[in-house]
Amino acid sequence: MKNKVLIVYTGGTIGMVQDENGSLKPFPLNHIYDTVPELRNCSYQIDTCQLDNIIDSSNMTPSLWVDIAESIEREYDNYDGFVVLHGTDTMAYTASALSFMFENLSKPIILTGSQLPMGMLRSDGRENLICALELAAGKEQIIPEVCLYFESHLYRGNRSTKVSAENFDAFSSYNYPSLVKAGISFTYKPHLFLLPTSQPLKVHKCFDRHIAVLKMFPGITPEVVGAVLHTENLRGVVLETFGSGNAPTEPWFIDAVEEAIRRNIVVLNVTQCKAGAVKMGQYEAGVGLQRIGVIGGNDLTPEAAVTKLMFLLGMYPDDNEAVKRDLQQSLRGEMTVLLN
Ligand code: ASP
Repeated sequence: MKNKVLIVYTGGTIGMVQDENGSLKPFPLNHIYDTVPELRNCSYQIDTCQLDNIIDSSNMTPSLWVDIAESIEREYDNYDGFVVLHGTDTMAYTASALSFMFENLSKPIILTGSQLPMGMLRSDGRENLICALELAAGKEQIIPEVCLYFESHLYRGNRSTKVSAENFDAFSSYNYPSLVKAGISFTYKPHLFLLPTSQPLKVHKCFDRHIAVLKMFPGITPEVVGAVLHTENLRGVVLETFGSGNAPTEPWFIDAVEEAIRRNIVVLNVTQCKAGAVKMGQYEAGVGLQRIGVIGGNDLTPEAAVTKLMFLLGMYPDDNEAVKRDLQQSLRGEMTVLLN
């Protein structure tokens, strides 16, 4: 029997066409074999489905993450793997969100897209789609993870980040190596894959959107910090700090964050640096944050931090201690576990 892959089309440049003003807009991708005729010769079966409204991924929302997850959940037993076609702008967020939603995943879910629409001569879409499909079909190796394929690399989804609005290699994964390198053949690195599981799949569907991202910059004012931390119904904050998790040591700043923590707001510290990790004990400028109860996000990407915080706040609506505990665990390989 042939292996089977389901494509879930959400929109993005890969399927876009130019409107009368020359701007790119989402367009239904009806016949995959008409778009990429080479796929007629592949050795697995491909089926497609699409979101009710196909979007530019700048319009992505947690409820659309649930729609994507449900398209996969409904067909989970009927396919060997899944390819999600998605705009590049928020692909790393969706990849991270899906990774948290799918607990005990035993099949590949691979997000991909392109920098140029498939209809354009120099498009990178054809190559990205074909490689993602080959990897999702699992004929050589089964990768039991949510991944992101772009320009010759398969990354762990929750480790990936968009790094270029121009280059074809638009994504990178600074704190974890790529899982597969595509050349003439695929070079798999199975020692880097998450371990397979035989536990039943669980799909979690609650995200709490009441979070904010507070990015540090020299000269940030008490008014800005206060406005963010006093946002109505706020439950969590991703604090994007300098270097290894450092922030101003000025009392007004520390006091404002401490007061927010006393109001039960969970504050998660991630670095603005592309690579490396938060180590709050390393500098005096980080020790103060640690002392008042800020949670260290280690080497989480900002995309994984935002989605993990929304996910855990949704999972534990009344239990901040559980949120803080799980923020410090690696749930789906999103963070390096530090061994003492
Ligand atoms: N704006 C597009 C999107 O994210 C960009 C892309 O797909 O590359 O939907």
